[in-house]
Amino acid sequence: MAHVKLHIPGPVEVSEKTLKAFSRPMIGHRGQGFKDLYAAIQPQLQQLLYTKQLVYISTSSAWGVMEGAIRNLVTKKVLNCMCGAFSDKWFDVSKRCGKAAEALQVDWGSPIRAEAVDRKLATGQFDALTVIHNETSTGVMSPLTEIAALKQKYPEVMFIVDAVSSMSATKIEFDALGIDVLLAGTQKAFALPPGTALFTCSKAALARAATIKDRGYYFDFVEFQKNAEQSMTPSTPSIGHVYALQSKLEDIFAEGLENRFARHQKLAEMTRAWAAKHGFTLYPEQGFESVTLTCVNNGAKPGGRAVDVPKLQKLVKDQGFLIDGGYGKIKGKTFRISNMGDETEATMNRLYAVLDQAMSQI
Ligand SMILES: *Cc1c(COP(=O)(O)O)cnc(C)c1O
Repeated sequence: MAHVKLHIPGPVEVSEKTLKAFSRPMIGHRGQGFKDLYAAIQPQLQQLLYTKQLVYISTSSAWGVMEGAIRNLVTKKVLNCMCGAFSDKWFDVSKRCGKAAEALQVDWGSPIRAEAVDRKLATGQFDALTVIHNETSTGVMSPLTEIAALKQKYPEVMFIVDAVSSMSATKIEFDALGIDVLLAGTQKAFALPPGTALFTCSKAALARAATIKDRGYYFDFVEFQKNAEQSMTPSTPSIGHVYALQSKLEDIFAEGLENRFARHQKLAEMTRAWAAKHGFTLYPEQGFESVTLTCVNNGAKPGGRAVDVPKLQKLVKDQGFLIDGGYGKIKGKTFRISNMGDETEATMNRLYAVLDQAMSQI
């Protein structure tokens, strides 16, 4: 069966080079070979996250670390900033972990604003905060720098940041931002297969975790740190992912970080222009559009055009491309096009040509 190329916002298309690295023969995860592999990629991971802290590899999807962050860092109460399906879910997960949690809910399509976070934190009730940098369900990027600036005012609050669909595609300077946890899954902007998450923690986060008794084992941040100091993971990692990550880091640094960031910005602008050309408006509030995916308004908000999304998807799929038909409560009322990973102007132009043709048949 012919492969349908993924332009959904995760998992995204994985290159042949990455797949080849992913399927290399196994090595023992306590042997020198694995330690050398992890040690070799550690400086690149630190450079990518702009940090001196160690970067950990978790064999789980992103949710493992998202739940782990709650279990490791919340004692008093967590403020879950909510602006879409993933950030809304984090509030639910906090409660499922038995933690006191409060929602800071904004309308889908809007970003989280620092002033709103500030007002909540000023109550003094919270010792942790979750925020999603790039809310993949709505295509909204929240102003992380402004939100992170609040850390200076509230040093006791742990700032937990999900960069699942933005890490590696746009600059996020972990140390300079002063945040406490930064995490991502591998199947989004990294364009690796799903099944592994990457994250890093501040010294303060590790100190907080060490005081918490019921933080569990599999996602114990203190275990990750102890093991990473020996270039190992707490339990058996997905070794294929580590090889794939090594190969991807090679690609990332061959391109150059600034070039990579600019490429994502450019491709997202191209998709926005494609949408405008066909009379669509965008779902995100203006000025907060994601650089890794475009969430097109298809009747979820007033203005712009609306088409039969399943029909559009089918026409595009018949030509070998998969686009997303909207997530959660805005399914069908939006559709999403990803430019994450290895996409170029040429590959995006091929997709727009197919989309143009589909639009002419709708
Ligand atoms: C995909 C995604 C998640 C969840 O990732 P899983 O890999 O399914 O655990 C969380 N947050 C954001 C922003 C995402 O895009």
